[in-house]
Amino acid sequence: MTISQAAGNVCTPSALNTKKQETTNSVKSEVIYLPGTDCAIKSQASLSAFTSYRVGGAAQWYVAPRNLEALQSSLNYAKEHDLTVTILGAGSNLLVSDRGISGLVIATRHLRYSYFDSKTGQLTVASGESIPSLAWQVAELGWQGLEWAVGIPGTVGGAVVMNAGAHKHCIADMLVSAQVLSPDGTVGTLTPEQLGYGYRTSLLQGGACIVTQVTLQLKPGADPAQVVALTKQHKKHRLTTQPYNFPSCGSVFRNPKPYTAGWLIEQTGLKGYQIGGAQVAQLHANFIVNRGGAKASDIFCLIRHIQQQVQERWSICLEPEVKMIGEF
Ligand SMILES: Cc1cc2nc3c(=O)[nH]c(=O)nc-3n(C[C@H](O)[C@H](O)[C@H](O)COP(=O)(O)OP(=O)(O)OC[C@H]3O[C@@H](n4cnc5c(N)ncnc54)[C@H](O)[C@@H]3O)c2cc1C
Repeated sequence: MTISQAAGNVCTPSALNTKKQETTNSVKSEVIYLPGTDCAIKSQASLSAFTSYRVGGAAQWYVAPRNLEALQSSLNYAKEHDLTVTILGAGSNLLVSDRGISGLVIATRHLRYSYFDSKTGQLTVASGESIPSLAWQVAELGWQGLEWAVGIPGTVGGAVVMNAGAHKHCIADMLVSAQVLSPDGTVGTLTPEQLGYGYRTSLLQGGACIVTQVTLQLKPGADPAQVVALTKQHKKHRLTTQPYNFPSCGSVFRNPKPYTAGWLIEQTGLKGYQIGGAQVAQLHANFIVNRGGAKASDIFCLIRHIQQQVQERWSICLEPEVKMIGEF
């Protein structure tokens, strides 16, 4: 696997098991089954439906493995064909270029299982599990600890990579260990100390390891009604203070202490400012929403405009929290 890929350096499907060809929007799409697995790799797969912004072009190659073996085969495929690998969780913190992504996009959305150990209070889940749905499940069991995560529409793997957090909690606070798959195919276990956690950062960001499984420490034994009530309260707070009614990636910028990015953007007079279909949300200025028909380039230009305006007014450089992938 390489980090950069030459334009013409595509894989050779003929060496594999090409089963069928489809035509979508006049672009020929190929589906290849990796030998010995039921894992299908698709070419020219549109990614807009797999990102919370609902924008972005196609993946040169796309695969959503259902188990560790298929994930390993996908990595081997990338290695053999010299393809750059991009990992996609729920796509809730990603801005994918309109020109798409070269190489192989590996989605974790079908890596799903969960084990609840009521003796230890540990929850072990596959990285593709949805974090808000886990928050509801544990609340209904009377397990405390994930109430804060109910409004974060990502996967557990994405949360571990981003150190997702809300309501003064974050995933690093409860992470026992993360199982990761290295590019060379070896599986290892990392502790929070090894992951170098900080505010919305971890050493996994920009690295080549794939989080495959996560163990979290929770607190069983509480009254389910109380845990559900707190979870509902957090959800309600989010719905009233953040624009969940339009596609977005949540907060676009990290908060530059002692300020919040939203306050700086609002004070700069940018609430409601729009480029194409992308708008600075009226409800929360650190959100850029897709008001309909936005292109990734609209969102990208709006990000740059906000950075420029805030820099001019406050001499502060806002750092994006959203991950921008592909060419802009
Ligand atoms: C409405 C809304 C509200 C939000 N609110 C919050 C909030 O309160 N707090 C907060 O922290 N975030 C928030 N977010 C942002 C986002 O949900 C989180 O960052 C989330 O953790 C991203 O998870 P994901 O699965 O969508 O990751 P993706 O967006 O798919 O990926 C994010 C990064 O992680 C990498 N990645 C994903 N999965 C893996 C894996 N298994 N192994 C290795 N790398 C991986 C990707 O390559 C990418 O670099 C919000 C987003 C939205 C749309």
